[in-house]
Formats: sequence, C-alpha cells, structure tokens
Amino acid sequence: MLTIAVSKGRIYQEALPLLAEAGIVPSVDPDKSRKLILPTERDDVQLVIIRAADVPTYVEYGAADLGIAGKDVLVEYEGEGLYEPLDLGIARCRLMTAGPPGRPVASRRLRVATKYVNTAKRFFARRGVQAEVIKLYGSMELAPLVGLADCIVDLVDTGNTLRANGLAPQELIMDISSRLVVNKAAMKMKHGPITELAGHLARIVSARAARER
Ligand code: AMP
Repeated sequence: MLTIAVSKGRIYQEALPLLAEAGIVPSVDPDKSRKLILPTERDDVQLVIIRAADVPTYVEYGAADLGIAGKDVLVEYEGEGLYEPLDLGIARCRLMTAGPPGRPVASRRLRVATKYVNTAKRFFARRGVQAEVIKLYGSMELAPLVGLADCIVDLVDTGNTLRANGLAPQELIMDISSRLVVNKAAMKMKHGPITELAGHLARIVSARAARER
C-alpha cells in the first residue's frame, strides 16, 4: 500500500487531475465526507487528508510514504528526512513581503508578522535587516492595519487579498509551487512502486509544461 499525504484546498484541487492521470482517483470527496483516509480506485494507493503544514511531518516520520506540499511549507519546515524528487508545477504563487504602500521604513527594528517565521528570519538576516518576527496563524494582512507589524510575509497569487486590505507587494522571497516529497525509508522499502509513480507523474508534468509552451 502507498499512502500519499495531501492537504485540502488549492493543492488538493490542482493535484486531483494529475493524480487521476496517474490512475489515482479518490472514491470519496473530502469536501462531502469527514473521512481523513480516502481510498482510491487503485487498491494499492490511499490518500490521507491533513493540514498543509503537517504534510512534511507525516512524510518524514513515515506515516505517509509520499506527500504533496508547497515549497513554502517545505522551506519553513527545514526537515532533512525527505526526498523532494519532483516539482509538480501546481498551486503556483509567490512568497513575498508586503506592507502599506509608501510608508517610510521604520527607524526602529522592523516588525514582521507571518506564519513563515523561519523563512522570514532567514530572509531579513541575509539582507542585514534587524527584524522582529511575530508568529501568526492566519489573516496576516490585518497585522499592519492595526499596528501589530510594519509588514508581512505571505503567499501572493493575484494580489487581490493584499489590495483589498490596502497593502502592496514589496519584495519577492521565492517563487512557490507544490512538490512531491518521499519518505527516505519508503524510497528503499517500496522503491519499485514509488519510482514508478514518481516517474509517471514526472512524465505527466513535463507533457503539461510542453503544452503550455
Ligand atoms: P491572492 O489574493 O490571489 O493574491 O491570494 C492570496 C491568498 O491566497 C493568501 O491568503 C494566500 O495565503 C493564499 N494563497 C495564494 N496562493 C496559494 C497557494 N498556492 N497555496 C495556498 N494558499 C495560497
């Protein structure tokens, strides 16, 4: 049995067609069911539905053999117990700093609100900018509006969420897409089925990229 960890939402929606092309079709819709383990039409593959930030943990500890996780989550996790063999090219967006447009740079230590604490600390340290990073779990856009922070670090796709809150994108930290991750022990123990699936997905992804060119 291969267990694949996926998060609900955008990654799940964009991963579904890819998985379907590889013959993996969940027999249950997670939006209509409370089930967290989804059987698929392949009796050797199941999906587990978890929070995006938990995908690396499940895969590193071997609770799932494989996972689909955003690069943002993987970089923040800083784990070493995972292989990352394939960029799936889905759920693309940018990890950026953002803040109120035209506000002068704070003379005191910059206060940054984000759920990407490790990534933000590394980014500002590399810049030589003294930053106090405040951990939030959601609605980062609110923080500069109520004086909790000077700026935020968050995912930006269309920029609509920032605009709706009077914020503007500032600096690009990194381009983001979802990656296939694999548990290191599973890669040895289940080498055949995992390399077959990863190879199949790689062919699907490159055929898609060729069509988009
Ligand atoms: P947008 O308004 O299109 O710029 O999208 C920004 C909002 O969508 C933010 O709340 C992000 O956290 C979320 N978001 C954007 N892209 C992704 C993605 N690839 N995966 C998960 N969340 C995303």
